[in-house]
Amino acid sequence: MNLRRLLLPLILPAVIALGCRDEQPPPAPPPVPAFTAPEGPPPSGTGLLLIVVDTMRHDIPGRRVANRSLTPNIDRLAAGSTQFSSYYAAAPWTAPAFGTMFTGVSPSRHEGGLIAPRENPTAGRMVKGFYLKSIRSDMPTLAEHMKQQGMTTGAVVSNPFLFPLLGYRRGFDEFDYSIAHRRADEVTERAIRWLNANGDKPFFYLVHYIDLHTPYDPLPAHRDIFDRPAGRMQRPFMMPFDEVMRTDFTNEERSFIRSLYDGEMAQVDRQIGRLLAALQRNGMADRTWVVLTSDHGEEFLEHGGLYHGRQYEDEVTRIPLMIRAPGGTWGAGNTIPATVCQVDLLPTLVALAGAPPKDVEGRSLLPLLTGASDAGGRCYMEAPMMRHHPDPRLSRHLHRHAFFDGRYKVIRSDDGTIYRAFDLLRDPGEKVRLPAMYPAVRKATAAMNRYRAMLRRTGPSTPSVDAVPLPADVQQSLEALGYTQ
Ligand SMILES: [Zn+2]
Repeated sequence: MNLRRLLLPLILPAVIALGCRDEQPPPAPPPVPAFTAPEGPPPSGTGLLLIVVDTMRHDIPGRRVANRSLTPNIDRLAAGSTQFSSYYAAAPWTAPAFGTMFTGVSPSRHEGGLIAPRENPTAGRMVKGFYLKSIRSDMPTLAEHMKQQGMTTGAVVSNPFLFPLLGYRRGFDEFDYSIAHRRADEVTERAIRWLNANGDKPFFYLVHYIDLHTPYDPLPAHRDIFDRPAGRMQRPFMMPFDEVMRTDFTNEERSFIRSLYDGEMAQVDRQIGRLLAALQRNGMADRTWVVLTSDHGEEFLEHGGLYHGRQYEDEVTRIPLMIRAPGGTWGAGNTIPATVCQVDLLPTLVALAGAPPKDVEGRSLLPLLTGASDAGGRCYMEAPMMRHHPDPRLSRHLHRHAFFDGRYKVIRSDDGTIYRAFDLLRDPGEKVRLPAMYPAVRKATAAMNRYRAMLRRTGPSTPSVDAVPLPADVQQSLEALGYTQ
């Protein structure tokens, strides 16, 4: 283990505490893009297509590589959509984040995907294999809400974590699940088939792409398009977590790894273009809401690590969200800078389909789409993937939660011994740690404590089911994706 990496977080806050005084006036906030109020009420649509690109970072829409757009099709979708530029995941990895998308509440309330992997206390090491809790059966799911609105529901998903036994398929008439790492072209093929068969009825359909997830291995057409030297790295790229912690990557190597991810993004973008073209061809685009988002992002060494699952910095928790109205003109081109959260997705989608549900933690973003001003959102994040590690120093780092109040972010270990705070207005890269006694940080911490108290108060009142071991074939598939290391 690289001790420097472990000790740095302990030393830096003290250094910054000495040098940090708010003597300078705060910088002007980034310019707010002009907002054109859409004409009339939101159009009514009979279809709702939710596209979730697993592991897609917030910097993907509009990203240019080698002087060209990485995602021309997503760019086109964005131009016809309202985008949210400060949208945050509820958790840094798939299972709890999808649980929140599917229930509209924080992971500790829906419980989907909690506890993983299981530690063997006597051997003092992790046992291979995941033991996960399912989404609580008393929580209505997104697809169930859509069924209540009279919609036919379907999904094509490709992350083994979305295992039907864990409650992710509840409410879907058809849930096309595979433990295999299905490429975007196959996922799109299945999605188009479903839409052709069901698109004439009111429908809700989820398309989930897994390509961006490790191992990074773009198809030949997208493999070498950015022509990066690899250094010691190889394709497909998937270095074990412990090895990442021991490796000092050169800039060249980091750039190579990112280019593989970008190549996979280009490959997914091409398929999203195909999917949207099929929607257009079938005449469905004029009556379908299209929502594109992700479950969480991905780190490329911005804070010394790779992948996702444990981090709360923006590269992992800030993600894209764009909403295109039927016809693609209502609200087109607007970007909303208000801080909004994954718990808001369910009430928003259900509001688009009919009446917003009651008793959810988040809020419908529909008023923001129409131009309502926002008093300032805040997002709570929790449920890291590796909550246990044989090295107690690392385990402490993994056992964390976070809160973002729209300007200040606080990341804290559950036992309070690790504490990081950033001012994202002055420091969007989250490099300068602020001391806990800094007044604005204290305010954000108090708000986080109140949020956690609310979660405890409103959390499950009955014991949940025990975590269940995933079947052997699902666990094998997870290993192939880089989990259970
Ligand atoms: Zn994911």
